[in-house]
Amino acid sequence: MAYQTVNPFTNQLVKEYPSHTDADIEATLKKADALYHSSWSKGDIEKRLPILLKLANLLEERSEELAKIATQEMGKLIEQSRGEVKLCASIARYYADNADTFLAPVKYNSDLGDAWVEHHPIGVLMAVEPWNFPYYQLMRVLAPNLAAGNPIIVKHASIVPHCAEIFEQLVREAGAPEGAYTNLFISSDQVSNIIADDRVQGVALTGSETAGSAVAAQAAKKLKKATLELGGNDVFVVLDDSDLDKAVEVGVTARLQNAGQVCTAAKRFIVQESIADKFLEKYTDAFRQVKIGDPMDESTTLGPLSSKDALETLTKQVNEAVKNGAKLHLGGKPVEREGNFFEPTILTHITRDNPAYFEEFFGPVAQIYVVKDDDEVVQLANDSNYGLGGSIFSQNIDRAKALASRIETGMVYINSLTDTAPELPFGGVKRSGFGRELSDLGIKEFVNQKLVVVSK
Ligand code: NAP
Repeated sequence: MAYQTVNPFTNQLVKEYPSHTDADIEATLKKADALYHSSWSKGDIEKRLPILLKLANLLEERSEELAKIATQEMGKLIEQSRGEVKLCASIARYYADNADTFLAPVKYNSDLGDAWVEHHPIGVLMAVEPWNFPYYQLMRVLAPNLAAGNPIIVKHASIVPHCAEIFEQLVREAGAPEGAYTNLFISSDQVSNIIADDRVQGVALTGSETAGSAVAAQAAKKLKKATLELGGNDVFVVLDDSDLDKAVEVGVTARLQNAGQVCTAAKRFIVQESIADKFLEKYTDAFRQVKIGDPMDESTTLGPLSSKDALETLTKQVNEAVKNGAKLHLGGKPVEREGNFFEPTILTHITRDNPAYFEEFFGPVAQIYVVKDDDEVVQLANDSNYGLGGSIFSQNIDRAKALASRIETGMVYINSLTDTAPELPFGGVKRSGFGRELSDLGIKEFVNQKLVVVSK
């Protein structure tokens, strides 16, 4: 796959990036492995944490430039790109402030003696990351693992090489030594060779089921730890006692932000019968008001999809859904203009035998389902191969909490869209993957939790 920047607003090629060779990979592995065996990785955490603080400052100082690069490369609205850069700075700062506490030894009471668990780095990691949050995805792996002392080799998505390159430059500028973080423009086969290398101890992948399954199989074959953050088909539940206007407002953002290309975007709206007509009417009105346009323009509310391929895939999925009996309530096709725009779309009457029922639609397409009671909400929500996030809207918090416990996902938000913050664990179950990123849980994924016992 060629690494190139193509502006999704115009489909003009901006720049091509040469791929790295096998010799580059060997040099990277050598440096990363040497760093892992040095006192930088194995020594005092206090040497590593200032790098994250400096990185947070650099991100904030250069946020406008970084935001423009992301918007030009993958089409995210400029204000959302700024928000992403700010979030990255907060993740770096969070681990700079808290990693020493998270990795401090933990005492265990035992009859066998004085016992404690220490936390040590495990070695070089391979990270494979997607384009939809071109900085945030990198930071979710970098910040905890730099703090823990694991050197990282990264293969970013081939459509965001500029983001990949500038992020690596900033990490170096922040003071990371050679080998701590290396971006490589490489193929899937080369990723597979890196995973197989004895110097590599783990792999973190965020992306599709297909990529996750391939990479996890390679890791399993070589008995290496893997974490997978994959797709989602999250529900947005609107109960009959919801604040409807709020549910509509948040539901529109939850489906349309990042042009609908968010793993935790609300994809299946489950609405209770008595309020379904009203919800659909208000939701449709809000979709009609969307302003499609240049993602650099502050007044635009829906930008282009990330690539021509993404537009083609979504178009095919919507056509297939309709062919199989779904009703097109609004939109349904690419916008007739330059760039990879898709109309804000609402599908209803999707039955279980329609492929759309189980598929993730990565774009501005909302599916609406109508159910009778709370049990039906749970039944429909859990009738999915995915299990990433989900939202429940209700003014009765106890009722919403009871439902939240019954929904089979890694995250549920009540009266909010599925969100993210440095201090909150992020991840899913079922085909949405395994492992967690961010928070105290994320930093424990790739550390040796080593037990030491002093016999009595
Ligand atoms: P993708 O095709 O799987 O790409 C993700 C990354 O994997 C890219 O770097 C890609 O490289 C690489 N890749 C693909 N096949 C590979 C293989 N066989 N071996 C090694 N690397 C491989 O995913 P996408 O379609 O661009 O991204 C969207 C998906 O990611 C959606 O399903 C979304 O829900 C999911 N996602 C999940 C989370 C989460 O935290 N759970 C967050 C964001 C996105 P190339 O670009 O070179 O193909």
